[in-house]
Amino acid sequence: MSGKGSIPKTLSKKLSDKIRVGQIVKVQDIEDTLGAPLFSPVQTRQQRKINKTQLKKLIEPNNIESTDNTKKKVVEPVATKKDSKLKDIGVKQGSLVDNIKDAADKSVLNAIDQPKGSVKWEPDNWRLILQNIRKMRSDAIAPVDTMGCHKCSDDEADEKTQRFQKLVALMLSSQTKDEVTFEAMQRLKSNHMTPQAILDTERSKLEELLKPVSFYKNKAKYLQLASKILVEKYDGDIPSNIKELEALPGVGPKMAHICMATAWNEVTGIGVDVHVHRITNRLKWLQKPTKEPEQTRIQLESWLPRDMWQEVNHLLVGFGQTVCKAVRPNCAECLNREICPSTEYKVKGKKKIDTEIDIKNVDESASKKSKPQKQKIM
Ligand code: SF4
Repeated sequence: MSGKGSIPKTLSKKLSDKIRVGQIVKVQDIEDTLGAPLFSPVQTRQQRKINKTQLKKLIEPNNIESTDNTKKKVVEPVATKKDSKLKDIGVKQGSLVDNIKDAADKSVLNAIDQPKGSVKWEPDNWRLILQNIRKMRSDAIAPVDTMGCHKCSDDEADEKTQRFQKLVALMLSSQTKDEVTFEAMQRLKSNHMTPQAILDTERSKLEELLKPVSFYKNKAKYLQLASKILVEKYDGDIPSNIKELEALPGVGPKMAHICMATAWNEVTGIGVDVHVHRITNRLKWLQKPTKEPEQTRIQLESWLPRDMWQEVNHLLVGFGQTVCKAVRPNCAECLNREICPSTEYKVKGKKKIDTEIDIKNVDESASKKSKPQKQKIM
């Protein structure tokens, strides 16, 4: 082991810079040159094997992490969840760092890490407007508060009968004033009001009981058709889901959603009647003006928090009965006259009156005042 010819070629080249030609090469010289103990003065076969491996590692260190001869571990990039997402969006595997950098440059990573859907549309000032409406509603009782459908059932009756009565009141209330519906319900209840009792009543007598409810003849017919289904299919009760309620003759989406809330205490959607439809269009609470209440319901449900769905119907119905009426809304007395997009207050040139609620204290968004715009929705 003392001759230069026994040293591997690569090692020889390394040593040539340090050791002169013809100089006697000692083990210590080699170790000093390479900075590691490679040779033992007394080498066994096993020692030579170990040395050979270590020498190879020193000369070709790339990709070998462990010095343990039995557990060589090649270092490879580890695929992460993000890598698979990158793959999904078409970023090639291979040079992962380069690919991630490229992806970042193209803002692809932003798309990966940000939740989908981003910003939800909602109308300006809606919280302030709603709070003003609550204030106006608490100051004046509306017909819906005392004679609405939820007030038409008999508190003494069993729950099944009460549910049926709430459904009937809703069926009669379409295009009919609360006072008229309430009185018709009193007459029906005096006639022992259950699905079977409605079925057993002569059509002409039923019509007389309903009169002057609007479309009372059609409503009498639908009442008996629906009662027949309830007796045969639901044991005299009403369905407990929106789909089956809507399938009953004479029951529309508005009635079904309100019925689910009042009869089953389950909020499934916003009940949109003529008042809710008209007022939400006037307030521009919809991204686009709507012609049908069902379109209004869908747009309204897209941004209004779900815990307000039941309340908003009752609030707006009463508000429509007392202030924001279909014809000649009382804008001069309305707390929203300064921020309502459809206010007629300034147009009439009346004196301005300060709104009672401090805008800044209610909602940040309240500071953005909407431009008043004319819109006639009856
Ligand atoms: S300002 Fe007039 S149109 Fe606007 S909400 Fe009030 S009453 Fe209705």
